[in-house]
Amino acid sequence: MAWFSRVPVVDVTKDNFKELWPTMLVALKTATFIAVDLELSGLGNRRKLNTPSVDDRYKSLAGVARSRAVLSIGLSCFKLNNIDEDGPLVLPFTTQTFNLTLLCSEEYVVEPISLKFLVDHGFDFNVQYSQGAPYHRGADQNGEAPQSVRQLFSELVCSRVPLILHNGLVDLVFLSQSFYTELPSTLGSFLADLSEMFPAGIFDTKCITDFHIRMPASYLEYVFRRSQRENAVHQSKEQPHVTLTFPPYPPHMACVEFRDCCLPDTLLNTTQSTMVIPYCEQYGAHGTCPKGVKCPLSHDPDIIIDQEDWVKAKKKRRRDRKKKKGNKIEDEGQDKTEHLVSMETHDGRDVTSVDGTDSVSSDGQTHTDQSDGGTDNVVAKTRVGCHRAGFDAFMTGFAMATMVCKLGKLCGETDSFTTKFQLEEFANRIYLSGKDFPLQIARSAFAKPSNNHKAKLQRLQFGGTSYQ
Ligand SMILES: [Zn+2]
Repeated sequence: MAWFSRVPVVDVTKDNFKELWPTMLVALKTATFIAVDLELSGLGNRRKLNTPSVDDRYKSLAGVARSRAVLSIGLSCFKLNNIDEDGPLVLPFTTQTFNLTLLCSEEYVVEPISLKFLVDHGFDFNVQYSQGAPYHRGADQNGEAPQSVRQLFSELVCSRVPLILHNGLVDLVFLSQSFYTELPSTLGSFLADLSEMFPAGIFDTKCITDFHIRMPASYLEYVFRRSQRENAVHQSKEQPHVTLTFPPYPPHMACVEFRDCCLPDTLLNTTQSTMVIPYCEQYGAHGTCPKGVKCPLSHDPDIIIDQEDWVKAKKKRRRDRKKKKGNKIEDEGQDKTEHLVSMETHDGRDVTSVDGTDSVSSDGQTHTDQSDGGTDNVVAKTRVGCHRAGFDAFMTGFAMATMVCKLGKLCGETDSFTTKFQLEEFANRIYLSGKDFPLQIARSAFAKPSNNHKAKLQRLQFGGTSYQ
């Protein structure tokens, strides 16, 4: 098969942290961009995280990050190899993904809602308590360990590579408070700090999906699967696409686990299946469902995407037929399709909501924002087990790679990733739930970087006094 069907994730715990340190460091320092995802012990009051005032959201979120813990962090390092000048644009990446299990050494809150979700999804608290790599929150302390997740984050900052997140505000606040230094009291200072911490830019794949790419939904699993499917189709037609290679991990390396992400065999078949498999509409639109794992309807993104594309193709055929009034030639297949769609409508499902037209795309967006608000975050941020943070980071990085291929315009020789692909308009814009504008990461005339950040960055640039 021409495309990847399984993804290696390196499982990092306190027992192999030192052994894997050099590998992680090389992956980080040679990366073209790095995708990150966190799993958290809770998010606090959901309503407060979605209040109209973005400044207030930041203040609540900062409080949450001071009292909750990061249970695991996923890092997926994407290194762009040489691009072949001939033929269609092919972006060849080498990808290394790490899932770090962590254990906060200070008291922290675990919320029942998160706990239930974690247990439902096979999270093993025994493993976390016995093998989690220890860390503490806030400012540096005397005698910091030289090989720790805090130091790894410092290396990430010093590497000055673009940071890729999906729905990244919560991640940014937790990353700063958990592995960098005490958060500033205002959003303005926080944004100024971020613009200095990540000068190569922060990209939010949810934001790019909602504002620049038409997709019926924008939760991570969906965006990834759609990107992966589209990429495979483009590859088969020799259109611009992304290719991935993974390091040849030796078979005896017990800490490497493979996540299966095979595409369905039917993907490239020209004859489409006309079978209707009922799927969960709630999950299909938002990636969350109150019934969770007990939902009787399908949450399989392939089934969801197949049906969406099928309904869309159906509508297009209907529009085309209307244009050709009087032309009565219709094949049997179309009749069958028509019949099945109307059955679907009788079931009470709103088939129009999955069409990929302009109005629906923006409707879907606001709908997602207002109806699920916090829960979108809740699920995305509390899923753990099966190395979810690592695989989620990989999915985010891969989605970004395909977006670069689709939206970027390759230009000349430059070391800067953002300039090389002319991605300036996509950088430093973070998704805001319930808003039709993104949060811009920039230093404003009214807000200065915080003193904590300035002192920290100086230590990182001019010698680590805190590590002596
Ligand atoms: Zn469901």
